[in-house]
Amino acid sequence: MTLHTSWNLEETAARRDRYYSASQRKFVPFRDPMVFRRGEMQYLWDEKGRRYTDLLGMNVCISVGHSHPDVVKAAMDQAQELTHCTTMFYHPVPAHFAEELTATMPKGPNGDIEWVVHFTNSGSEAIDLAMAMARGYTGNLDLLALRTAYHGPTSAAQSVTGIAGWRHPGMPGNVAFVAEPNQYRGIFGRNAGAAPYLDEIERVIQTSTTGRVAGILVESVQGYGGIIEMPPGYMSGAAERIRAAGGLYIADEVQSGFGRTGEHMWGFESDGVIPDIVVMAKGISNGFPLGAVVARREIAEPMAEKFMFHTYGSNPTSCAAGRAVLQVLKRDRLQENAKQVGGALLKRLQELAQKYPAIGDVRGRGLMLAIEMVSDRGRMTPDADTTGVVFEACREAGLILSKSGPHRSCLRMVPPLCLSLADVDQVAEGLDRAFDKARKGQG
Ligand code: PMP
Repeated sequence: MTLHTSWNLEETAARRDRYYSASQRKFVPFRDPMVFRRGEMQYLWDEKGRRYTDLLGMNVCISVGHSHPDVVKAAMDQAQELTHCTTMFYHPVPAHFAEELTATMPKGPNGDIEWVVHFTNSGSEAIDLAMAMARGYTGNLDLLALRTAYHGPTSAAQSVTGIAGWRHPGMPGNVAFVAEPNQYRGIFGRNAGAAPYLDEIERVIQTSTTGRVAGILVESVQGYGGIIEMPPGYMSGAAERIRAAGGLYIADEVQSGFGRTGEHMWGFESDGVIPDIVVMAKGISNGFPLGAVVARREIAEPMAEKFMFHTYGSNPTSCAAGRAVLQVLKRDRLQENAKQVGGALLKRLQELAQKYPAIGDVRGRGLMLAIEMVSDRGRMTPDADTTGVVFEACREAGLILSKSGPHRSCLRMVPPLCLSLADVDQVAEGLDRAFDKARKGQG
């Protein structure tokens, strides 16, 4: 069967306007509508055949490259044989993938930590499940989350999402927020390190919870929050404090996992912390819908007392894609590439910061980077307007980025991990032109 697909942008825009709900229709970052017809590795092509470098990684989902031939083949082969099979039946592909995922987890000092996997359809479902697991296992209700965290759009995930603008009214409660350890504009000032933020965790536990908590959720590097890295000692210190209050440490690796930070497979590894629960999605399957909670066996076990069934969780097509992602990451040494290419890109961003006072901060690691724009460097006044101008000018220069951060004043770069050093030159030159244009007020 051939489905009729019109690549006429006006027709697509008219259909979206007529048939999409406002919340889907309006979430459009660019001034003008955009449609991508084709993708190959780190590049996208629009309907007119114009090429773009995808620094957004189609929202961090594309870990190894758009339409990567090995991933597509693995998924196609599986889809042809059996597209879907729910968890109640045995299937070797998700079972194998679960084994491979647990093999990436730390074994602990005695080598005896046993990890188990619960597959979901998305990151936010995995967050919901992790929250339920932590509450069920500890018997405590209160959870801690970071103020500029984003954990997803489901109700439970929204309840641990700090920014009010990202949360609808009436979301479930029992969540206390702690200040994010932002080393640029955090509440304890520039480069304050982890210590005052760890004290803050203790204070919040004492003042805003019953004193016994279910856990804390931490993105190892905050994504939508504007690429906020956890300073050394924060993740391990937070785990210590939360465990002292009876809770679990939940690592949200939805954006920072699968080698994106360059140094490690998982962002939490940079601090030597061993989480109790790890949440993953996005890069796990290079764009096929899939999420997972990987938890210590004893923590996941009590969940069996209640019905917890995700219809598409462990879908063999997505899991086949996931298995191929793990192989490609390893074979093509993409984590090492993220470290090298990300390091080179960071250096170029730092050079741009020397040239343009509108750049307040440049940060990140591996291929998880951001530029924060300010109208006044001394006061660190967030500048969403100039960010918007640069963002549009980048698009004209063939670069797709994302605006993030609570003030929408950060340009986030989370490309496929196959970005090359040659791309870095092109990206740096494109950004330079975009900043120059913004400076001259030509946006
Ligand atoms: N956690 C983080 C850190 C995320 O960035 C996101 C999505 N952007 C989620 C959870 C939710 O994932 P999903 O959109 O797949 O539900």
